[in-house]
Amino acid sequence: MEKIISEIKNAADKVAKKSNEIYEFSKVKLNIANVKSEINNNYKLLGKTVYEVQKNELSDDADRIEEIINNIDELNEKLTELLSVLSTYKNEKICPKCNKNTDKDTLFCPACGYRYKNVSVDDDFYSVNDED
Ligand SMILES: [Zn+2]
Repeated sequence: MEKIISEIKNAADKVAKKSNEIYEFSKVKLNIANVKSEINNNYKLLGKTVYEVQKNELSDDADRIEEIINNIDELNEKLTELLSVLSTYKNEKICPKCNKNTDKDTLFCPACGYRYKNVSVDDDFYSVNDED
């Protein structure tokens, strides 16, 4: 009886873990969409600022342009980070050498031949069904 209870508890834990992962996954995807649209907004702002500076010959506004460029750089860094988080949810990994996505269990990068160390296979990461 106790074994059954602990099995039920285990299954419940797994379902909870999985739904939490799905929640985190959509949260990361939403963040990526937000960061991408923020990058686009900054590009637009940059274009508008450059236009105004050129047209009105406002040399003082060079600082504003630099600020926007820095913003875009920061957002791009954030985007790279989020994409790497997303790839772990998708059972993928990113090659540290060439940044290409590959399957999580791949031993060598198909693009550059980088050899992955410590390939760990986490089978129940995405499956809820238990066979034992
Ligand atoms: Zn590679």
